Amino acid sequence: MRGRVQGVGFRPYVYRLAAGLRLAGVVGNDTHGAFIEIEGPAAAVAEFVDRLPRELPPLAAISRIEAVDLPVRGEATFRIDHSARDGVQDAEITPDVALCADCRRELFDPADRRYRYPFINCTHCGPRYSIIRQIPYDRPNTTMAVFRMCPACQAEYDDPANRRFHAQPNACPACGPQVRLTDAAGRPLEGDPIRLCARRLAEGGIVAIKGLGGFHLACRADLDEAVATLRERKGRESKPLAVMVGTLEQARALAEIPPSAAEVLADVTRPIVLVPARRSEAVSPHVAPGCGLLGLMLPYTPLHELLFAEGLGPLVMTSGNPTEEPLCRDNDEALQRLGGIADAFLLHNRDIERRVDDSVVLASADEPVVPVRRARGFAPAPIRSAVEAAEPVLAVGAELKSTVCVLAGNTAVVSEHLGELANPRAYRNFVDTVEQFQRLLRVRPAVIACDMHPDYAATRFARRYAREGGLRLVEVQHHHAHLVSVMAEHGLSGGTLGIICDGTGFGTDGTIWGGEILAGDEAGFRRVGHLSTFSLPGGDAAARETWRPAAGLLQAVFGDSWPGAALEALERVPADALRLVRRRLQAGARLPITSSLGRVFDAAAFLLGVCDHNRHEAEAAMALEALARDHGPAEPFPCGRPAYDEAGPAVVDLGPMVRSLLAGMADKTPIPRLARAFHETMAVLLAEAARPIAERLGLRRVCLSGGCFVNGVLLAGLTRRLREAGLEVCRHRVVPTGDGGVSLGQAVCAAAVCART
Ligand code: ZN
Ligand code: ZN
Ligand code: FE
Repeated sequence: MRGRVQGVGFRPYVYRLAAGLRLAGVVGNDTHGAFIEIEGPAAAVAEFVDRLPRELPPLAAISRIEAVDLPVRGEATFRIDHSARDGVQDAEITPDVALCADCRRELFDPADRRYRYPFINCTHCGPRYSIIRQIPYDRPNTTMAVFRMCPACQAEYDDPANRRFHAQPNACPACGPQVRLTDAAGRPLEGDPIRLCARRLAEGGIVAIKGLGGFHLACRADLDEAVATLRERKGRESKPLAVMVGTLEQARALAEIPPSAAEVLADVTRPIVLVPARRSEAVSPHVAPGCGLLGLMLPYTPLHELLFAEGLGPLVMTSGNPTEEPLCRDNDEALQRLGGIADAFLLHNRDIERRVDDSVVLASADEPVVPVRRARGFAPAPIRSAVEAAEPVLAVGAELKSTVCVLAGNTAVVSEHLGELANPRAYRNFVDTVEQFQRLLRVRPAVIACDMHPDYAATRFARRYAREGGLRLVEVQHHHAHLVSVMAEHGLSGGTLGIICDGTGFGTDGTIWGGEILAGDEAGFRRVGHLSTFSLPGGDAAARETWRPAAGLLQAVFGDSWPGAALEALERVPADALRLVRRRLQAGARLPITSSLGRVFDAAAFLLGVCDHNRHEAEAAMALEALARDHGPAEPFPCGRPAYDEAGPAVVDLGPMVRSLLAGMADKTPIPRLARAFHETMAVLLAEAARPIAERLGLRRVCLSGGCFVNGVLLAGLTRRLREAGLEVCRHRVVPTGDGGVSLGQAVCAAAVCART
């Protein structure tokens, strides 16, 4: 058996099935998955084989069964074997799983011996990836190794009929981990830690709570002062904060919850789900200022359940780290780094082996959810690629929202979200993960794949790693990797069209790409279309100050008289800076050239007076999207259609869009209407550009990828128009649409490139 068969109650399931049919033999884990030897009357064996894949426990999944005939041994009983330790690793390490219904029932049953025990778990739920030190997944290889099971727990662990049979983190109040509450200096506080913690929160305090894959910082979501204080202490100005609610009903009071969102909120993966916020007293405006979406999640550990059982309303639950740094993992580390942020600490003594952030998905009304950040609950579940790697590949991803990926055979494993590598702590975590991942998966890569961007920390790392380790280095263009990441998760191979829209990617011509139509396969691509280009004055500042891309875009449309086209808006720009940029643009200075849709969003947000500063990534785009979503449907601006003749890429002229925006401002069209029309126009422009290309090249399928598709209005508008044009649309549903998915694309590209050369 290959697939998700370890740590999910698979062996006891097989035991019960075999014993019920009076068959003899053995089931065990190996490094490939699981194996079964079965013997008995032919009819019973046939029934066993037939029922095996159909009655699996809830978390198990079989991707492949191989069957061979063996000589009969004449055994009388069925038994469970202990794990073997050799061979090439492609067994699945399962992600952490939210508390199951059976354990939840016991948690609140005063007669149960685990009543109110915050570490209750069973084979269907609890920690996995965050506590595993090495494979196979057995207790001594986890951070539970230090806890010796009491006789009652051991009896459950040894009993194949019990729900906790071989549940590696099995524990109870007598033998397992314990919680404690301390003040900001780490001094213990007397009393029931959970009740005390709930009271602190209710009184408006900020508490650091140790969870599954790291610490959270929690406070009441409805108290302006608490939320503002948390932001100030954490150094997080404006980026939206996640909110945990006790029940789905509470969630519905705060936001619109379409059926797809309700389903994923309650799923065993329990991600943060981005949904349209309602106006509500229960959430302070400081939680997600100007964004219009709320990131909601339900409790996923017994500890969370116990806190909410104390009658708490919605809580801000943001990752426990100073902004842009990786999660705190150890108690001492947390006390030291979060001491200035939290008023109290809810700690426990089960160590976290691996930092795993909360995952984030975008919900939409009638489409599957789109992954935004992939970590807890999802990583490191493998992805089956259509490309088979002849030699194992390690891919190191992009720069922001970093992940790494290992591809061996056709099995790709993408790491949890590792954050922004410009941060030294995040970079160290990235380097550690590269090593841990190889050890955990028992893979020695022969090939290393990275981005083409010469200044990415991951690219520099890969070049050095290849040189020192004698690996073959394959550099993959950023948007090609995006395209292949969608193809890989859909199991696609061969020629495909891709519309890839994001903020920044290093192009093969040295310009900054980001509004691209590519035609290609896993091994190569052609740039068959792109947005018309403009200059980006001001280097790094051009990604923060939205007037800079606006100036570049205006100049591309109006020539050197550009300041006259948007006099009113440009009044908000400091005169000195404006004069300098004007001079540089006029002199044709060597400024970066871009076709980035992300920067077009920034420019539009500036021209409409919606956002002058990106205090966090994509703040302007999110503000623009919020207005567009609230407004509802609007007609796109009139705009031309680019022709495609194979002589060169089709260029999508942004001129008519810019002129329409400015005309709308001049005649006082309401800003929300203009924001919506802008979204629809970009969707029309991209769809209309892709249509003739698809026809000409005989391609029927379009893959969408890139960070811009976290924008639900743009994604829905483009998807609809492409389908109306008779094209099949493939969107992300496994790895993030932003740069978190890039490592998967890089790995598959590199394998394909190596196969051809
Ligand atoms: Zn359970
Ligand atoms: Zn026990
Ligand atoms: Fe990207």
